[in-house]
Parts: sequence; C-alpha cells; structure tokens
Amino acid sequence: MLINRKPDTFAKLAILGGMAGDDILSARDAVPSPNPMLAGPATPRRGPARNPVPGVYRAAMPNGKFINLMRVMFTDFCKMDCFYCPNSHWVPRKRFAFTVDELANAFMELRRRHAVDGLFLSSGIAGTASKTTQKLLNVVEVIRKKHGFTGYIHMKVMPGTDRELVEAAHGLGTRLSVNLETPTDEMMRRISTMKDLERDILDPMRWVHQMNRESSGGKVGQATQLVVGAANESDRDIFQRIDQLYGELDLKRVYYSAFRPVRYTPLEEHPGVPIAREHRLYQMDWLKRIYSFSNQEISQAFDADGYLDLHRDPKTAIAVENADAFPVDVNTATREQLLRVPGVGPTSTDRILKTRGEHSIDTWRDLQAMGVVRKRAWPFLAFPGQRPPTARQIRLDLFGERQPSEPALQATAAGHGATPCGVGSTCAGCSLYGAPGHPGSPEMSALAAAA
Ligand code: SF4
Repeated sequence: MLINRKPDTFAKLAILGGMAGDDILSARDAVPSPNPMLAGPATPRRGPARNPVPGVYRAAMPNGKFINLMRVMFTDFCKMDCFYCPNSHWVPRKRFAFTVDELANAFMELRRRHAVDGLFLSSGIAGTASKTTQKLLNVVEVIRKKHGFTGYIHMKVMPGTDRELVEAAHGLGTRLSVNLETPTDEMMRRISTMKDLERDILDPMRWVHQMNRESSGGKVGQATQLVVGAANESDRDIFQRIDQLYGELDLKRVYYSAFRPVRYTPLEEHPGVPIAREHRLYQMDWLKRIYSFSNQEISQAFDADGYLDLHRDPKTAIAVENADAFPVDVNTATREQLLRVPGVGPTSTDRILKTRGEHSIDTWRDLQAMGVVRKRAWPFLAFPGQRPPTARQIRLDLFGERQPSEPALQATAAGHGATPCGVGSTCAGCSLYGAPGHPGSPEMSALAAAA
C-alpha cells in the first residue's frame, strides 16, 4: 500500500483531519467520519461545531471552556490489524502522510491567523510504534521549541512505544493518551492479533502515571479511549476496568466510541452499536467521577447480563432501585442525597444549598431557576406545598415496578376525575396534566388504552 504525499497541505488537512474524527476528544464531540469505508453508524451521531478550516473543531476542555482544536493524524497508514479500524491494513485505499515540518508549519500558520488554539495529534502506526511516536514527537518539538507554542497539545502515544519516548512525550505534551480499546486481554484477542493489552497499552499508561508522581515539574493529564461493542464486552466489563484505571492511574478522562462496522474489515458484518449505549456509558462515567456514586450503587444500574438500560439513564435506574430513600426534602437533604436525585446535578445542588441558607425553597419555579429538571426530579423531591403525598406509589407506577392501582387506571381511563397523583384535583387546569405518570402522559395513556 502506497503512502501518498502528493496532495497539498490543505487537502491533507481535510483528509487526515477528517480521519482523526474517529478519535474522540469529549463526550459531545463524536462526529461521523467522512471515511467512505465506514459502513455507517447504527444511529446518527451529534457532532461539535466544525470550523470552516479543515481539521479544526470546537472542543470542550477539562475546565469546561471551548477551544479551536486542530485534530489531525500524522498518517492514516497503519500496519496493524485492529478488526474494527478504518486505518487498519485490511482496508484497501490510498493513504496519506504529512512530513514533520509540513504539519508543524501548517499548525503554526493557522495559529498565527488565530484559527486554532491547540493541537490533538494522532496517527496510524507506520513502521514501528516507537518510530511513529518519534515522528509525532518531532512535530511537537518543532511547535514547542522552534515556534515557542506553549498552549494545549494532546498527543497520542502509539501502543507498544518504548519507555524513553513516552518520557519525551511526557515532557512536551499537555495531555497524553494510549487507546485502551477494550477492557481485558482476552477481549483484545477478539479484535486484534497484534496488540497485547498489558505490554503495549497498560504498561505505557503506568509509566505516564509514574512519571506524573515522580515529576517535580508539571504533570500531564492522562486519558484513554474504548471502542464500545467490538469485542462483545458488557457495560459492566467496561465499568470494572475504567473504575480500576481511574483509581490506579489517576486518569483524567475515559472516552467511549460506539463501534461502527467498517467495510473490508473482519468485523464488517458485526452489528453497529447504538449511540445511546455510548451515551449511557458517559452518564455512568459521570456518576463515578463527578457525583461520587459508590461502585455498589452503580452496579445497581446493570441488568443481569451486565448492560445499562438504553431507555432509562443510570441515575434514574439507581434511584428507582433505592425507592425507599425518596422523596428527599429539598430544604433539609444533604449534598449526597441531592446529588442522587435524577434531574439534579452538581451545579443545581450547590445552588440549592446556597439558596436554602438564605430562605426556604418552596416552588418548582425556584428549583427550575437553579437548573433542576422538573420532569425528571418531581417524583423524588419534596418541599413545602409540593410534597408528593404518594411519591413512592407514583414512582413505582411510573417506572413499571408494579402495575398502577385500579383507581389510578380508572381515573386515567376516565380522563378526568381523581388523578393518579393522588391530590384529588381534576385534570382540567392541573399543572401536572401530561407530566410523566399523570393523565395525558404517554405512559399513562398507554396503560389506559391497555386497560
Ligand atoms: S493501531 Fe490504531 S490506527 Fe492502527 S489499526 Fe489499530 S486502532 Fe487503527
């Protein structure tokens, strides 16, 4: 397979910037690859705003800010055989590559024009892993040392790279990542005959962690990425591995990329993974990292086969499992209790705690102004004047834990009269008419029809 160096730099940016779109930078920046070899995702992906300059994207940074990031591969040639990858040797198509100076100069030229703020640099493996990582290092070195760029650079370390090169990358990058791809060695053997999870991926990740611990200067953030569904792994398999890595290696982020079948690869016929599964894994990841849910709590979100429910977010699933802990009183609940209420996030929790130090909270309007999502939170929250008297029953009915009571069904079938919310008002004029679990809502209408 020939590597084509002929197209000009701009054309290469369009091609190799597009190919890097298969590497994920943030939960919200999964984009469809322009690669014609992709047989197509099972469900459409929502992408980030794309800059008119090829290969440049708006990307969310760890501090929540957005920057213009040049996301590009040094080459899309790869000698490896990963069974899912459009860059693997299975796929017969032309490949492209930059030279070191060409890529460094292109980045600096865009930087001078204020079109980019940072660089995400990846590559296929041409020659050996170390040789490829050395090329990436050369690009970063020119940008850092020759041009004096001190901004954000996220550099991929190729699996199987020698330790001294990982050390060099540690000295130059803002963030480093080695793609984990799959949770266990046995699963790795299902998707590649050439990669060894321990030796090629986990060892370099451990080195980066060790360098961070021993470094007297700055630390680099370490991230990794998994392809979801290529190795038939369950969500529980993924969670167990990432839980271990967050704990042992102090990872900053794990990114999840739903498997999509690629023409000509061994997994061409393997079913694509719905984007909803990727989304659920990000939600589970947030429960672990941001909400500090215990492993025991998170394990309640998995079904018997170890998968998350695609139709219900894991936080709601866990709340339903712990129905006895709800509703919580907005004005007295602890921070931990509030964080466990669906529809209440860390920011709205902080706002609730701050506000109730000044006065009591007693309207949904107050809560919504603080960012609480009423349609998700209402069965789980109580406050003066709005205490759901049959909250547990509503919750059980709403989430199918048991069938609704006969009177509730009759009320719903009748359309108006006593309501399943139990407050005894009629539906007409009721502010909850059509809300989840109440007359007029899709699930109650369906129950009424079934009755
Ligand atoms: S090493 Fe990376 S680029 Fe190469 S085939 Fe595997 S996943 Fe694709």
